[in-house]
Amino acid sequence: MINLPTSKLPDVKTTIFTQMSLLAQKENAINLSQGFPDFEVNKDLSNLVDHFIRKGFNQYAPMIGVENLRVEILNKYKKTANVDFDPNSEITITAGGTEAIFSTIATFIEKDDEVILFEPAYDCYEPTVKLFGGKVRTVQLNFPDFTIDWDFVKSLVNLKTKMIIINNPNNPTGKVLTIQDISALIEITKNTNILILSDEVYESIVFDSKKHLTFLQFPELKERTIVAGSFGKLFHVTGWKTGFCIAPKEIMAEIRKVHQFNVFSVNTPTQYALAEFLKDENNYLQVSKFYEEKRDYFKNGLETTPFSLLNSEGTYFLSASYESISNLPDLEFCTELTIKNNVATIPYSAFYSDGKDEKVIRFCFAKKKETLDAAIEKLQKINF
Ligand code: GLN
Repeated sequence: MINLPTSKLPDVKTTIFTQMSLLAQKENAINLSQGFPDFEVNKDLSNLVDHFIRKGFNQYAPMIGVENLRVEILNKYKKTANVDFDPNSEITITAGGTEAIFSTIATFIEKDDEVILFEPAYDCYEPTVKLFGGKVRTVQLNFPDFTIDWDFVKSLVNLKTKMIIINNPNNPTGKVLTIQDISALIEITKNTNILILSDEVYESIVFDSKKHLTFLQFPELKERTIVAGSFGKLFHVTGWKTGFCIAPKEIMAEIRKVHQFNVFSVNTPTQYALAEFLKDENNYLQVSKFYEEKRDYFKNGLETTPFSLLNSEGTYFLSASYESISNLPDLEFCTELTIKNNVATIPYSAFYSDGKDEKVIRFCFAKKKETLDAAIEKLQKINF
């Protein structure tokens, strides 16, 4: 056996999502941990994939993605957000939102570049920045409403700041940025060369008549923004690993250099199927309402438990404090909850680089009614 050569990420562990899903399986628990829907994909969409496979669309797609799909994404943005971009030079189909994020960071982040990010944060940003020698500067959102202290953000900006990564709507908090947040970001980045990586994979899941504001709607931000998007979230097909990346053409040209050697191109029949499916706006305009009903149903069921619920303005996550139930650290609490009460969730400390423990856990409510009912029943009987 050779001695293990130095790895670039010696401290990184298997993600909490994999960890908790495995525990859920082992304990035969209801899995509200890893974020993925447990209901069937729309039959028309799966029939379309079937159709394109049978028609012989089984070889490499173009490196930048199937043209029809790029055009249909543009049409959707025009309709829902009044946003325009060039479907040839400003969008690339990626292997999920994660590849869009990875390829963007890989393209631009070099040794000692500083990247500002907001915590609690989805777990892939920091390790990717570190992989390329970058340094993370963290802004913790204000607990418990998860607003942003923009003065603090401003105080972190310096000549080394290369990128700001922001996730809107935010996983895990479900927080949606307001116009005031966007104005503050415009002000802070004005007269700088800072890039913004905007993880908007949950843009189609926003509640209570709130509107998701994509950075592409604001010219001052659009010129510096790379948007990561996801069909997994939009059409309940997280396993298809199909997403996209939108950016101004000079930025996109550089990202494509990494994308082509990272994955080269993305699954062909799903791209043709998604392009067809996107033509009917009814297939995507109802998504927020669909998930809002699930959020309300689940929230209602949890009202009579000792959990204290936090606000969820979007995404398919609802978070709750368990402070009145237990003093255990959150990972231990989630582990016990899976083993004793058979419901798996995600501890918030996994979203903080310093492991901050707010005694808060995240539930995924992107589940069929039976799953939510079963979870609610178990959580109502919780005893610690
Ligand atoms: N985005 C999903 C979540 O937050 C998980 C994706 C993954 O397992 N890497 O739960």
